[in-house]
Amino acid sequence: NKFVYLFGNDETEGKNSMKDLLGGKGANLAEMSNLEIPVPVGFTITTEVCTLYLKDEHYPAGLEGQIDNAIKELERTTGKRFGDLNNPLLLSVRSGARVSMPGMMDTVLNLGLNDSSVVGLANKTGNDRFAYDSYRRFLTMFADVVLGIEHEKFESTLTAKKKDKGVKQDTDLDVDDLKGLVEKFKGIIKEETGKDFPQEAREQLQMAIDAVFGSWNNQRAITYRRLNAIPGKWGTAVNVQSMVYGNMGDTSGTGVAFTRDPATGEKRFFGEYLINAQGEDVVAGIRTPQPIKTLKNNMPEVYNQLVDIYMKLEDHFRDMQDIEFTIEKGKLFMLQTRTGKRTAAAAIKIATDMVEEGLIDKETALTRVEPAQVDRLLHPNIDPDATPDVIANGLPASPGAAVGEVVFTAEHAEERAKKGEKTILVRAETSPEDIGGMNAAEGILTVRGGMTSHAAVVARGMGKPCVAGCGEIVIDMKEKNFHVGEHTINEGDMISIDGSTGDVILGEVELILPGVSSELEQILSWADEVRTLKVRTNADTPHDAKVARDFGAEGIGLCRTEHMFFGEDRIPAVREMIMAEEIDVRKAALKKLLPMQREDFIGIFRAMEGYPVTIRLLDPPLHEFLPNHEEAIEKLAELNASDAPQTELDRVKKVIGRIEYLKEMNPMLGHRGCRLGITYPEIYEMQAQAIIEAACELTKEGMTIVPEIMIPLISNIEELEFVKRHVIKVVEAVMEEKSIKLDYMIGTMIELPRAALTADQIAKEAEFFSFGTNDLTQTTFGFSRDDAGKFLPFYLESGILEDDPFAVLDQEGVGQLVKIGIEKGRATRPDIKIGICGEHGGEPKSVKFGHNVGLNYVSCSPFRVPIARLAAAHAVI
Ligand code: PEP
Ligand code: MG
Repeated sequence: NKFVYLFGNDETEGKNSMKDLLGGKGANLAEMSNLEIPVPVGFTITTEVCTLYLKDEHYPAGLEGQIDNAIKELERTTGKRFGDLNNPLLLSVRSGARVSMPGMMDTVLNLGLNDSSVVGLANKTGNDRFAYDSYRRFLTMFADVVLGIEHEKFESTLTAKKKDKGVKQDTDLDVDDLKGLVEKFKGIIKEETGKDFPQEAREQLQMAIDAVFGSWNNQRAITYRRLNAIPGKWGTAVNVQSMVYGNMGDTSGTGVAFTRDPATGEKRFFGEYLINAQGEDVVAGIRTPQPIKTLKNNMPEVYNQLVDIYMKLEDHFRDMQDIEFTIEKGKLFMLQTRTGKRTAAAAIKIATDMVEEGLIDKETALTRVEPAQVDRLLHPNIDPDATPDVIANGLPASPGAAVGEVVFTAEHAEERAKKGEKTILVRAETSPEDIGGMNAAEGILTVRGGMTSHAAVVARGMGKPCVAGCGEIVIDMKEKNFHVGEHTINEGDMISIDGSTGDVILGEVELILPGVSSELEQILSWADEVRTLKVRTNADTPHDAKVARDFGAEGIGLCRTEHMFFGEDRIPAVREMIMAEEIDVRKAALKKLLPMQREDFIGIFRAMEGYPVTIRLLDPPLHEFLPNHEEAIEKLAELNASDAPQTELDRVKKVIGRIEYLKEMNPMLGHRGCRLGITYPEIYEMQAQAIIEAACELTKEGMTIVPEIMIPLISNIEELEFVKRHVIKVVEAVMEEKSIKLDYMIGTMIELPRAALTADQIAKEAEFFSFGTNDLTQTTFGFSRDDAGKFLPFYLESGILEDDPFAVLDQEGVGQLVKIGIEKGRATRPDIKIGICGEHGGEPKSVKFGHNVGLNYVSCSPFRVPIARLAAAHAVI
């Protein structure tokens, strides 16, 4: 079995298509080498080895020999020798999973240095300072990554040394200082592990490989995988590569760049570099890097070569690349290329630009935009009319605005988010340990770091607003506050940040939602060309209907009429209706509601002109419309106290009595849905009358309206027959009275397991189905929609459930009922129109499922309509 693949010389064995085996980094290093782009020679140990090692706790037979042979090949190519006293081969050891997980796993640089080879390195390069600087860096990294010793122990020794000498920068330390540090560092290692630092190079390498494979299962990698849905079984590859040095003086350096602007998507070379530095310095944001364009003046030849390479890479991969390079004494090496992470806006711009440039086709462009990114684009910005009190300005690292209370630790942000509180995470800089907190916060503000710092890259990926490198801010972790100018901001104080401008703002600013850009329009219209699933919206007001229509909705899939009952002008009549114990009184109250409902429906039909509108008859338990018990009792007490007139007192008492009467142990399984229409047919009759009268009125204006009347919570065909009889009677009477013949449909929701299981019978009466997957999830799991929040987080944390089933449709369980419902429904009525109107209708994975099982449409909240359009297109591609 082959476990080790060479790259970087004429023996290159891998290629880009081998990502599963070699990881993204390894496969792309091989590909660059195939493209004759300069890459330091190295080899990749496969992800398969990782999986075997983590499972069996030992390596497969033959691996050791393959590594030894690969090292010989590296020695042959470089003319150096591993562990040599005169001309040592030094290595970097890095992780590289199938998809990039920036900063999540470990890296060791300068491996192979020891007390003798450091002398060899000094002699060979003629640069003692460089050699000892590399050695102390190596000791620090090795101790941290491989031996698990706190980085801080070394950092504080280094800081003490600088303080002693009265210097600020690491570069101000001379060779003797560094030699002293090396001895101190070895001392720390001995003290912490009880063993000497391993001097043998091959042993160092083996330990580093173990550590990198092991880092696949560190907590931050696990969290990252969970957040990004990356399977644990993939494992990581290990890339071992001969070192090149960006820290060999002023003709050396290192940098990272993107082939297009990752924030806006604009077509321009974008990046940063540092002279006389190693790679980690740029990403960690310890020194502030220079913009890439200044390299043109500093090293024109290198710059031109870099430009040629980036263009070649973008042409080859046909996507925006994120590249890392090192310049060693004027010679350029590429260390990495990968598909660049980008903001939602950039993803859309790059995708549409690349179609125009002929690099990719429309379908590819669609796959370059994730539905979740569309969601982000519809996220808030600062209201342009606001007058924000800007107290500081940093780098606009990830666009969008956020408002929240200041917290200084990731744990805090997570705790507060659990309570539903909004925070802004303020850090000196972020590290991979912080990602849980970054995800929990509304936005992130850092003091240090550039546009490619950890905070910036991760925030952009998450779509979180982020202001990075805001150097004016001074954090005091002891006092739990930060200072900027004359302001002191304490933990818990409200601030706002604008990740599009870099502004930090005192207090809370008004946020507004952006419109749809022309590039997004373009992508969505391509999505419309491809998709077969229709997208409707859940809307109960003309305003929401209009918003949804502007977002591309093709009708209303669910109008929850109960939402209309809460209007201030009608709640008295609604209460009168509920309070009524006699049918005549109830009918009188309903008569008052009728004209209001008619106007509601006229408004909705008008807003959706030309598209189908599904109106659901009253669904929730009646007690929801009454004042709550406490309020009524308070009112009663008040009245008593003020010697109220007898009638008013009676009224309040009666309300309390009725509340008591309507109280249910389990309202969601109680007197609601069609059960109301069965016990009080006059309610549904009034609603049916209002719907048909509205449709007749608009028909007279020349509009074509086909009302779809939907009966909720059916479990049994007889229920539907009963309700339908009453509804039809009214519908026919209205049409007769108005002398207008309308096409209309009566259908039902499938939101109880029994309805799904008997859908063949139900389809005899129902002219359409709409899956109410909120209730269907509730009743299939037996999880109360209202109470699941108490235990679901534990289910998710402990991995009992992968997703919240109220957000992402449970395909295995609830999905089966959906499939059965569709099959049985179509067996009776082959052309029955079937949709879904639960929350899942706007969730990309569930939309895909809906497409695959043959739904006609999904219906979702207005702001998710664009997401559903794109997700429906992805389902086809
Ligand atoms: C459902 O149950 O999925 C549904 C759409 O209805 P509601 O959320 O109003 O119960
Ligand atoms: Mg429901």
